Amino acid sequence: MSETIKKTRVVIIGSGPAGLTAALYTARALYDTVVITGKYLGGQIATTSDVDNFPGFPEGIQGPELTERMKQQAEKFGAQFVFDEVKEVDFEHGSPFTVRTYNETYLADSVVVTIGASPRHLNIPGEIEYTGYGVSYCATCDGFFFRNKDIIVVGGGDSALQEGIFLTKFAKSVTIVHRRDSLRASIDLQKKAFANPKISFVWDTLIDEIKGETLEGGIRRTTGVTLRNLKTDAVREHPIDGVFVFIGYDPNSRIFGTQLATNDDGYMLVDDHMRTSVPGVYAGGEIHDFTFRQAITAAGQGCAAALSAIHYLQANEDNLQTLDLPAVEVVAEA
Ligand code: NAP
Repeated sequence: MSETIKKTRVVIIGSGPAGLTAALYTARALYDTVVITGKYLGGQIATTSDVDNFPGFPEGIQGPELTERMKQQAEKFGAQFVFDEVKEVDFEHGSPFTVRTYNETYLADSVVVTIGASPRHLNIPGEIEYTGYGVSYCATCDGFFFRNKDIIVVGGGDSALQEGIFLTKFAKSVTIVHRRDSLRASIDLQKKAFANPKISFVWDTLIDEIKGETLEGGIRRTTGVTLRNLKTDAVREHPIDGVFVFIGYDPNSRIFGTQLATNDDGYMLVDDHMRTSVPGVYAGGEIHDFTFRQAITAAGQGCAAALSAIHYLQANEDNLQTLDLPAVEVVAEA
């Protein structure tokens, strides 16, 4: 089997607000731009319900709609979208950089990494078994399936409260299980959650196990959890139809191995121009930002990363020759 290596000026890895903004800028600067979206277009914001703090939308906007609008804006200036995941890169030999997806190989003069972060798991018995059968990490995707059901939301941050409030549109009750007795979520979200009659809190508590059953036809369903109070060590069973987990995120930096410098937690290190440790490769959004983590800050960082990529391309125009390389046929691994 052979494949043709595709050549472009800029590859953007990831399609959250950082990647979509970067694509808008590089495409609008007339650089051929390919966005490799990852498994889901839009990243985390596409799985977020009401976004009411993205400037320009005084009525608020749904995450998927914001994603679609940003994509359309980048496409308007010529950005191309590839619905695939990056499986490996070669940044070690400098430009042109090689980016391999599951279906294609791309050569690019510059790369903008906006691959984001993924939801953390509880890592408890039953979690994997019942994911998709009552256990979820995405309220927008799965809330609809929990109409008139009793559900638990795990976590005490903005995500847990925001998504918990959203889930009250569907669920009969939402119990927020948090490992401490105070929340780290914003005061505004706390006020809304405390005022919501469908929401109750279980403090100082962890879930030890998620339990369920297999119905006729092999369909599984979640039926309950084992709760443990961390102050008293008391353990009790709690019947429940669903468990939504919002306990933070981990950066998706594994595919880069040691080719790009990261901190000990895997967040990419960039300077104030969003330059990574490899000249010509830039990063923005939650792949490096573990502090602000807002759609608007990600968009701003994506913009800055793209502007740096544009400056790099302009400054090195005589040396960068990806588009002049002959078409290459390579034999793909079986
Ligand atoms: P987060 O702020 O890191 O909160 C994670 C929560 O999960 C914390 O309450 C933490 O408990 C708890 N937790 C962590 N590991 C756990 C475990 N193994 N078991 C049980 N609980 C665990 O994450 P986030 O809520 O996803 O927010 C991430 C960032 O996005 C934040 O900067 C946030 O401000 C931002 N965000 C903003 C909005 C908004 O502005 N509308 C919406 C969503 C997210 P502890 O509190 O005890 O550490």
